[in-house]
Amino acid sequence: MKTKQFKAESKKLLDLMINSIYTHKEIFLRELISNASDAIDKLYFRSLTDDKVGLGKDDFCIRITPDKESRTLTISDNGIGMTAEELENNLGVIAKSGSQKFKAENADENIDIIGQFGVGFYSAFMVSKCVKVITKAYGSDEAFCWESKGAEGYTVTPAEKDSVGTEIILYVSDNTEEVNYDEFLDQYRLSALVKKYSNYIRYPIRMEFETKVPSEENEGEYETVIKDRTLNSMMPLWKRAKNEISDEEYNSFYRDVFYDYEEPVRVIHSKTEGQATYNALLYIPSHAPFDYYSKNYEKGLQLFSKGVLITEKCSELLPDYFNFVKGLVDSEDLSLNISREMLQHDHQLKLISRTIEKKIKSELIKMLNTDREKYEKFFEAFGTSLKFGVYSDYGMHKDELTDLLIFKSSKDNSCVTLKEYVDSMPSEQKSIYYAAGETVDRIEMLPQVEKVKDKGFDILYLTDYVDEFAVKTIMAYEDKTFVNICADEADLDTEEEKNALNTENEENKDMFDFMKESLSGVSSVRFTNKLKNHPVCLTNEGAISAEMEKVLNSMPGSGGVKAEYVLEINVSHPIAEKLKDLYNDNKDKLSDYAKLLYNQARLIGGLTIKDPAEFSKLICDLM
Ligand code: ADP
Repeated sequence: MKTKQFKAESKKLLDLMINSIYTHKEIFLRELISNASDAIDKLYFRSLTDDKVGLGKDDFCIRITPDKESRTLTISDNGIGMTAEELENNLGVIAKSGSQKFKAENADENIDIIGQFGVGFYSAFMVSKCVKVITKAYGSDEAFCWESKGAEGYTVTPAEKDSVGTEIILYVSDNTEEVNYDEFLDQYRLSALVKKYSNYIRYPIRMEFETKVPSEENEGEYETVIKDRTLNSMMPLWKRAKNEISDEEYNSFYRDVFYDYEEPVRVIHSKTEGQATYNALLYIPSHAPFDYYSKNYEKGLQLFSKGVLITEKCSELLPDYFNFVKGLVDSEDLSLNISREMLQHDHQLKLISRTIEKKIKSELIKMLNTDREKYEKFFEAFGTSLKFGVYSDYGMHKDELTDLLIFKSSKDNSCVTLKEYVDSMPSEQKSIYYAAGETVDRIEMLPQVEKVKDKGFDILYLTDYVDEFAVKTIMAYEDKTFVNICADEADLDTEEEKNALNTENEENKDMFDFMKESLSGVSSVRFTNKLKNHPVCLTNEGAISAEMEKVLNSMPGSGGVKAEYVLEINVSHPIAEKLKDLYNDNKDKLSDYAKLLYNQARLIGGLTIKDPAEFSKLICDLM
């Protein structure tokens, strides 16, 4: 018997195949099962028009049989089989796909074949020292055996086989220091691999398990019985019609596949046809997973092609700001490259990801409008991601995301969207007012809050570290700009009030200069109308606010950022007159008062004071 040589380029390709195309050896099983499924599809397709096939849909099956003693793993199917000629053509020429040809010949029929590149079979050599294919084609009396030890070549010889179909026998490699090949003979490992990659193959994938059961004859003893189990669940949930799937089915699928103990807040199940044809099953979780805010968290959706898992986490399918979404996409028309592991042209993927993004957004908007309570819960878990999305990439995505944001507001402690805020603004209100701080309580204590509330204006309370950055990126909503009530741009006065204040400030200019000299850390001192009961506040000048200063300085490598402050004194507070008196008769005391007021202002603004000992001494002196 003469050993035939693989074509020269086939040799190279086989070598490449075994050593570099696939990154995980375990995928050989997925490839062989997909081939078996294709072979069954072909015969099933035949059976629809040909009574002689003699098999119904329920008779087809793929069987996996590991044998530790002989170190073989057999994958068999009762599909269409191969003739000697087909063996030569399909398995003798690498990168020639019989399935692709079959598909081309039957292009008008609606059949769904997985194989397309003609290389998957050879992945068997990643785990085997020898591969035998024993096959009998439908309509033929003869069986043949194809055998190869790898790059050296293959033989085809007549063989014995009773029924139509194919049996692939892998002689599993011996363990090496790096690889434990034994795992591919272990029943539990194999059934886990079937679950992972081939769970939705539509024919049953069976394996016999030996189990011990209590003996019926001898009480107290056990006997070994063989149980035949189906390893795959076959029908993918997402391929079933929506109206036939119960909430419980959606939820239990979510819990099993994405390991969450809580139900998701939303399920999005869609079939999309058009430029990209795919099924998607997406879940919005109700809480952030424990590693969500850590570096280890990876976003992504499972990607299936025709029911076969390609990647566990395809990150290209989700934008960063929707990184919390779990789920999967199953597409018919991904142009996968030969290894199915790497996606060669991500054009299709881009199309899919764009439509997915739209779906997620519209679902979130729907939840925001119809189920506010749930939305607030969702936003508590993942709002930071959305706000970060507004701010990142120089605000490129802000238009997409702005309407998804909600903020706590000063009105009955509720959350509002920017639209709701703007819609309920009184006509004399010109800007969107906000204040930033660590907690709502802290913000409520800010001296500037009182006056704005008194005017009947709502204030957005920004308590998340990214809030103010997001708001600065949005800049304006429906032409209303955002104004920090603690910044000097906050302008609530009438012309008259403004003029009166200006005169006061002009007249006392020398006093303010004197006070400023006694302080370090303020760029000026002045009277204000902003305050109601409080005597003083610190007001921000320039682009960086007190909260932003805190956030920026807490990031590594960005220390030294400084907000600029003005010390503002309530012009209607008795302290204003007191200061004027002191300026005339006791300048030393005025200098101490300036320090006290400044430190007071820092404390109410949530800032630390630089010299607490001096502050305490000044208070005692005063007492
Ligand atoms: P692909 O599946 O991408 O076409 P493979 O290298 O995996 O490429 O297989 C090459 C060809 O061999 C298949 O197209 C098919 O015609 C044939 N083949 C492989 N496995 C089987 C099988 N179990 N039964 C029948 N034909 C098979």
